[in-house]
Amino acid sequence: MSTTQRSWFVFPPHLEGLDRFEPGKPIAEVQRELGLSHVVKLASNENPLGPSPMAVEAARAALVGVNRYPDPRATELRAKLAARLGVPASHVIAGNGSVEIIDLIARAFLGPGDNAVISEHAFVRFRQVVDARNRGARLVPMRDWTHDLPAMARAVDGRTRLVFVANPNNPTGTWNRKAEVEALVAALPPGVLLVLDEAYFEYADDPDYPNGIDLVRKGAPVVVTRTFSKVYGLGGLRAGYAVAAPEVLDALLVVREAFGTSSPAQAGAAAALDDVEHVRRSVALNRVEKARLAGALGARGFAVLPSLANFVTFDTGGAGREVFRGLLAHGVIVRPLDPYAMKSWLRVSVGTPEENAAFLAALDAVLPRERP
Ligand code: PMP
Repeated sequence: MSTTQRSWFVFPPHLEGLDRFEPGKPIAEVQRELGLSHVVKLASNENPLGPSPMAVEAARAALVGVNRYPDPRATELRAKLAARLGVPASHVIAGNGSVEIIDLIARAFLGPGDNAVISEHAFVRFRQVVDARNRGARLVPMRDWTHDLPAMARAVDGRTRLVFVANPNNPTGTWNRKAEVEALVAALPPGVLLVLDEAYFEYADDPDYPNGIDLVRKGAPVVVTRTFSKVYGLGGLRAGYAVAAPEVLDALLVVREAFGTSSPAQAGAAAALDDVEHVRRSVALNRVEKARLAGALGARGFAVLPSLANFVTFDTGGAGREVFRGLLAHGVIVRPLDPYAMKSWLRVSVGTPEENAAFLAALDAVLPRERP
């Protein structure tokens, strides 16, 4: 029965017109809809090598204890992260993925009439959590598909509480350099917090790429969010974390669900930190395959954005969603970027050599290009 027929139902007026997050299409759904047996998913920037076996084993072992609630303080995971990152455990919070923490930040720090400064083509969840909270998203245009940090600093006013920056950004892959980020922090008036989303930190290999935790260590008004969903390959477990001053994290506990991360997620994430070799292999594969993918797209004449993450974003020159549908019919799932106001663009995650080859073959079938 459709909900529109329920006479008692009134959609929350303060949420009217707001969009929902459109995740990458699941493999099983595409198999079912298109009757395909083999589907390649390059739509959610997941680790194509899978999770670390050590993480899987630890999560499995934790399952036998799930009659007990999880440790709401995620003591072991936070202690391990703190030691790894060189901050006190009081500066670390664990979350159900880093988007939970991004949502908590919006809910905790934005009151009625407050606003958050966000870049136009930034990770879409920033705008969504802020608008669901108080419709306070203030969008600032990008420059060269990159966060324009001086313009964002100028957009801060007396009601701004948060500035969101994804570094590198999804879906553009572009990044801001150390000096630029430091200048933004220096320009923030008291009472404004910079949320630095470093979901792709482990892949970022530019020497000028800043480590946001250095800013937290220096006492700057910064909260850094990171995740176990990307290089650690644990997107399905939902584990992320944030590093900030304890006062900031304490405010998040006011709005957080009582227990936070599940016990298998805590155990899996903690074990994943120990598998340094898995991370090294994943980063190395990404570096080689990203260059190959970007080169192949460039050779076909597509405009390709520089990326410091584990995906490549390119301009199809036409309707991106049509090309996305064409690729689906060939069993390859990528990400259309119309929800990001980038209608002609597609984002493709870096896969294994076989997956990337399947993507390029499908693209050649859907959008034949003369190669020089
Ligand atoms: N931030 C950015 C920039 C992302 O691209 C993603 C994943 N799409 C996330 C956060 C969310 O990751 P998590 O799985 O940790 O919630």
